[in-house]
Amino acid sequence: MLPIMYGRGIAITGPTGSGKTRQAIAEISRALASRLWDGKDDTIIIAKHPRSEPVGKAEMGPYPVLQTDNPDEIAALVTWKTRAVFIDGADSFESPRIVNLYRELIMSNRLAYVIGNNLNWEARSRNHMHKLMALSDEFWSTTLPCIVKGCNNRATRSQHIGDKGQRKCVEHHYPNERFLKDFNQKGWLGMYVGSMFGDKTSEWLGAIGAAKENGIPHHVFKYLGDRRHDGDGNAYNLFGTGNISTNDKRGRIGAVLIEHANHMRQYLQKHPVGDIFIDEGQFIPGLFDFVREYVYKGYRFHITGLLRDFRIQPFGEDIPKLLCMADELRVGHGFCVKCLKYRASDSQRLLVGKDGERTPARYDEPIIRVGGSEAYEARCRGCMEWSDALPKQLYRFEPFDELRG
Ligand SMILES: [Zn+2]
Ligand SMILES: [Zn+2]
Repeated sequence: MLPIMYGRGIAITGPTGSGKTRQAIAEISRALASRLWDGKDDTIIIAKHPRSEPVGKAEMGPYPVLQTDNPDEIAALVTWKTRAVFIDGADSFESPRIVNLYRELIMSNRLAYVIGNNLNWEARSRNHMHKLMALSDEFWSTTLPCIVKGCNNRATRSQHIGDKGQRKCVEHHYPNERFLKDFNQKGWLGMYVGSMFGDKTSEWLGAIGAAKENGIPHHVFKYLGDRRHDGDGNAYNLFGTGNISTNDKRGRIGAVLIEHANHMRQYLQKHPVGDIFIDEGQFIPGLFDFVREYVYKGYRFHITGLLRDFRIQPFGEDIPKLLCMADELRVGHGFCVKCLKYRASDSQRLLVGKDGERTPARYDEPIIRVGGSEAYEARCRGCMEWSDALPKQLYRFEPFDELRG
């Protein structure tokens, strides 16, 4: 198994009171024990938002921390020695610069950890947490059983009761809106994400196969404009049938074609079933609001999607927000075809010239361009390229070099 590049993002998320900060403290202790950090200098920076527990105290377990709501103050501590940065209460930062900070720490070859609540009381992402999730490579979810007596479901949401938060499962959580149940079952959201060629589709097709074998009624939906797997030259019409296959062409399945999430609402009115599979969710407008509502109506979702676009930016808004709402997250990374040294974290877009020569796309091209292996490659962050100048970084950190010092 190839390693992921040293620089990477780790999101530690879960509902209120599920032990996120304890997880982070354990990781800091491991860094100390492995001499990644000598505990004195600026090799590791630990920061927390003042609203994160313990509220107003500049400490995280036994470790003193920088307490701030300003991402610039965290950035100011970063030196060439800094290997890792922990940001607790990441969901409480209102400044959008928290996203620049996290991205630039990862891009400068550092380990960056964001620790925060995945959702607010209404089951929507808090502040910029969804973008931080989409920039991450690893997801550590902390979980405990739902707080309701006798309920053994895993708690993935937080309920506001009085002046406190409580962890709850989907069945016992009320998002301040009333959604009547279409199915008397616990709604659920599973996300299959990663970069292109990360094989997210194979695992998802496996789940469809299992539903078929067990006679579970289900629908498969895909975006009308995605014709990559249409080898038969079928006409693609709204509510018609399209094909989905894995990149290795070994698995193949039919899907109902849609252009907007509202088309799924229409389709389900006529053909109501409780298990829904959606391919390449980043292409489908309105997906987050639809899924949020229908999860509370008792539907179970399996959705594939890309974490990031070809610019190494979160792919739109819907997939990032769904990451925060997911009850289960599967991440698949392919292998970097350029250096063959690291696991791929991202998708390189390529332009094919008349002579068949492939060159990196420009950074300012439109975000959505449906394509397969002719137009994209799996690459690690260090091998990503663009043919034009990149936008200026906000913090411009000196890249961390493992061999220096
Ligand atoms: Zn429960
Ligand atoms: Zn590479």
